[in-house]
Amino acid sequence: MHGGNDMVVEIVSVGTELLMGSIVNTNACHIARRLAHLGLDAYYQTVVGDNPERLRAALDVAFTRCDCVITTGGLGPTKDDLTKEMLLSYFGCTPTEDAEALRRLEERAARRGVPLTESMRKQATVPAGAIVLQNNNGTAPGVIIEKDGRACIMLPGPPKEMIPMFDEACSVFLRAKSDKVFVSMNIKLFTMAEKGLPVGESPVADRLGALVDGANPTVATYAKEDGVLVRVTAAAPTHEEGRALMAPTVAAAKEAIGAEYIKYVEED
Ligand code: ATP
Repeated sequence: MHGGNDMVVEIVSVGTELLMGSIVNTNACHIARRLAHLGLDAYYQTVVGDNPERLRAALDVAFTRCDCVITTGGLGPTKDDLTKEMLLSYFGCTPTEDAEALRRLEERAARRGVPLTESMRKQATVPAGAIVLQNNNGTAPGVIIEKDGRACIMLPGPPKEMIPMFDEACSVFLRAKSDKVFVSMNIKLFTMAEKGLPVGESPVADRLGALVDGANPTVATYAKEDGVLVRVTAAAPTHEEGRALMAPTVAAAKEAIGAEYIKYVEED
């Protein structure tokens, strides 16, 4: 493991559309937020086009600094299963056909009254020994490969498939790899226009004083267009313990900022 007891995770987003700026990487955003809640460290993110050599290079780099890579995209028939084929060879896994994934593909084809083509059928191919994450909202299953202390989780690109798969199945696997969770409380301030009060980021940081130097909980300020945000974050074995640990700091931060400046306080 890289540093500490917890697994270090890295997101590798696969897709030329992402690289070209044609679409926004909402998948990485979703996963990163979930990883933070799960208490898993993620220090880098990579975006790589639909290109096997560059994907391999991105994985080589990622595994020098993490234990688990999460990829999204390049799983479906349209991309020639680029990510899956690459990962199969990368981990030296034997391809095998997953019976349940195949059954779902056959059922889907039958429902539509079309034959199951070879390229569709290829989606049921998974690395032997992998954990298969069935796709309830599309065709390509996700997989989790664990080998020699490294893990790789491959998820489909479309958010409507990726998000439920991550939230329902993947997070169960990841939760077991973390011995802590992160809990955050957002303290949102009014804007200058709303209140006519000097509530810029630096006066707020000045008021918070030594509170921003804490290690656990941490207190951070963010200058957002719709007003300054102060976020208090605690790491603890459970959400309840995190909330308890955070409470005195949240109270102290509210006190330091001043009630008249605060628009709302809510758990993130
Ligand atoms: P498909 O079976 O549709 O080919 P796939 O797993 O191969 O799925 P991609 O072909 O890479 O995934 O992406 C399919 C679509 O999913 C993209 O056109 C885009 O709309 C969306 N998508 C892919 N990656 C992301 C991402 N990181 N963030 C948001 N949307 C994404």
